[in-house]
Amino acid sequence: MAKIEGIIFDMDGTLTVPILDFGEIRRQIGIDSGPVWEAIVAMAPEQRRRAEEILLRHEIESSRMCELQPGVMELFAELERRKMPMAILTRNCRAAWETLRKRFGFSLDRVYAREDGPMKPDPTPVIRLAKEMNIALANILCVGDYLFDIQAGKCAGTQTALLVNHGQIPDFAGEADYVIHSLLELPTIIDACLTI
Ligand SMILES: [Mg+2]
Repeated sequence: MAKIEGIIFDMDGTLTVPILDFGEIRRQIGIDSGPVWEAIVAMAPEQRRRAEEILLRHEIESSRMCELQPGVMELFAELERRKMPMAILTRNCRAAWETLRKRFGFSLDRVYAREDGPMKPDPTPVIRLAKEMNIALANILCVGDYLFDIQAGKCAGTQTALLVNHGQIPDFAGEADYVIHSLLELPTIIDACLTI
């Protein structure tokens, strides 16, 4: 694998222990199944406004209440020591990231949220962040806990790492270049790429 020179992190369920209850969000919004944001985008304006308010409320509440994944602070300190460029790519609203950032004092400030344009699994946000970081896509590692994170990274031409939550390896795990059970495995992966 090519040298890893920058990392794009998903937020919910990757940096944080997932607590967003999508079943409850769907119930309140009035959709049966499938990705919530795509369903909202397809709604008529008035219905969409109401649905977005519900989603926003849940996301910000989640950022206020959630816990970080084990090792996040340690990982960020190590990556900052290495001067590794980092970015956040989240399907959440920007305010949800800002709430989390302020709560835990993250210095990381490069973020692409859903207000910023096309959203993963579309590769556009990955391509845009890589360009902002001035790093070739092959030298970027996208880290996430869901299929869309892996698809967006893969389609853009980055390396991908899937973080497994609750010890259950999902059926799409084979799509990712790396499957990790702890964020603290990342420095070892970065080192391994250096020596190949
Ligand atoms: Mg996630």
